[in-house]
Amino acid sequence: MGFKCSVCGKEHDALPRDMAHHRPGGYFEVPPDERNKRIWFDAGVNPDLCVIDGSKFYLRGVLAVPIQGEADEFRWGTWAQVEEENLRRYYELWNEADVSNEPSFRGYLSGGVRDFADSDGLEVIVELQSNNQRPRLTVVLETHPLAIAQHNGVTLEDVHAFVLPTPA
Ligand SMILES: [Zn+2]
Repeated sequence: MGFKCSVCGKEHDALPRDMAHHRPGGYFEVPPDERNKRIWFDAGVNPDLCVIDGSKFYLRGVLAVPIQGEADEFRWGTWAQVEEENLRRYYELWNEADVSNEPSFRGYLSGGVRDFADSDGLEVIVELQSNNQRPRLTVVLETHPLAIAQHNGVTLEDVHAFVLPTPA
């Protein structure tokens, strides 16, 4: 069912509240003809884990920003490069119902989020979530626009720009 968009006045199927990045940025730095050999990634087995060259470890988490005036948030599914021990721990706890006592750890965005051009490589806090929800990512550098968005929230107009072409 379509709806009339309050932002641009056009009909959309829906205004999504999620946008997924399906590969870490590091994936695209490997030439296509070398990926089979150098990258461990199988979306059919687990679309949230990736290892490159046996030495670079990535997980997909959720980087969320509140939407101003709404109870909802907007979420990017995006990737963080983390230490091997943290990736192993995450995998160990995959089926744990309660990981609320698990300490958070640090990582670095790999690929960032599309609408924040310089977000690639930003340091993030990674918090594992109970019941197999994806880890939550929080930008450390408080002055970065993406951190400010995480603190202050974004508007529906911003969400529109994240997920849809700009209104003509
Ligand atoms: Zn619209």
